[in-house]
Amino acid sequence: MAAAAKCSRLGGPLARQLLDSVDSVLFDCDGVIWRGDQVVPGAAEVINLLKRRGKRVFFLTNNSTKTRKMYAEKLTRLGFGASADEVFATAYCSAMYLKSVCGLEGKVYLIGSGAMRQELEEVGIQQVGVGPDLVSGGQADWAAVPLDPEVKAVLVGFDEHFSYMKLNKALQYLADPDCLLVGTNTDTRLPLEGGKAVPGTGCLVKAVETAAQRQAHVVGKPSRYMFDCVAAEFGLDPARSLMVGDRLDTDILLGTSCGLKTLLTLTGVSTLADAEGHRESGCPVRMAMVPDYFVDSVAELLPALQG
Ligand SMILES: [Mg+2]
Repeated sequence: MAAAAKCSRLGGPLARQLLDSVDSVLFDCDGVIWRGDQVVPGAAEVINLLKRRGKRVFFLTNNSTKTRKMYAEKLTRLGFGASADEVFATAYCSAMYLKSVCGLEGKVYLIGSGAMRQELEEVGIQQVGVGPDLVSGGQADWAAVPLDPEVKAVLVGFDEHFSYMKLNKALQYLADPDCLLVGTNTDTRLPLEGGKAVPGTGCLVKAVETAAQRQAHVVGKPSRYMFDCVAAEFGLDPARSLMVGDRLDTDILLGTSCGLKTLLTLTGVSTLADAEGHRESGCPVRMAMVPDYFVDSVAELLPALQG
């Protein structure tokens, strides 16, 4: 199909044309197919029809608090036909990154969740650190805190038990220049209903980077590793793949930088005004966050799939 003007409303024949031009559709989850525990109306039908039409569907999320299996259970409960191997969440992708890309031989000091521990164990990596870790003693004790000599990487994801002592231990491990620093994602806030928000994993990654005076390698969107991880397992052609997301700075930027077609849905974080602002800026960095197309909701893909 001919190159479309950036940020076009997707509907009618254009929607059908776009779907005909792709074999794989990659969906972000929150703000796209569900909001919290509420499914976006029509989203399950869209995904089930895409599959019936022979498209491969994948779910890519920066959320590090669930395993692929937990996501597959949630998808099934909400009416989506999905299996764990279609889910690429940062708990799984960061374990794969440490295993396949870094070839890690040793343990991980984990600032993260039980789900992250499970995904590490699935690929044969042991961890220390999950769960609460409260401070005691004074500064000299903190600097001399006992370390596990087998730890070769610090992995930072969402950790509701994040504490000064965890930050300190990360610093002590990372004093060894051969110890790797990996973060699941850099989302700074988790938006909640009613305009409220809580601090996201990006705050924890930033704290560890600041203490260790090192940059983390980040696995989650917009890092291209999320796409590479799917492509490595399923042999995707970027030019025949579509990324659907609600955030310009993660989902759409990932899609653009990996050469995918991109679709913004307005049921989540970013607005059409945000996308148009980037488009009008003329700045190349911001242009990478302009989607090819937008819809008010993924349900707008239904007519193109039902005909
Ligand atoms: Mg989202």
